[in-house]
Amino acid sequence: MKLLSTGNPKVLKGMSQGYNTYILHLAPANLSGYETCAKRTDGCTEACLNLAGRGGMFKRGENTNVIQQARIRKTKRFFENRVEFMATLVKDIEWAIKKSKKMDWCLCSA
Ligand code: SF4
Repeated sequence: MKLLSTGNPKVLKGMSQGYNTYILHLAPANLSGYETCAKRTDGCTEACLNLAGRGGMFKRGENTNVIQQARIRKTKRFFENRVEFMATLVKDIEWAIKKSKKMDWCLCSA
């Protein structure tokens, strides 16, 4: 399973400018059963963008969706099998570098 996402409207916007972005989305706070935001406050937890955009779109009567489930799955993987998680992340990054070079996209880091 790949860890990095590219199917995000902001990413697609960047692509039109020659920038390719890959994002690792994890589940914030303790949604996965593991705490990913050690210093979170009640205020930031309340205002968190985790449910912004498609991540917050649920079918009627449901309180989760495939996006939330994927974030939770990745977060559990991070905490439960760190070695395998990091190995997959390295592979994803190598693949992203290769693809960016092939497509002549800007390869930048923030
Ligand atoms: S806003 Fe708060 S809860 Fe959301 S990701 Fe940031 S630290 Fe975590």
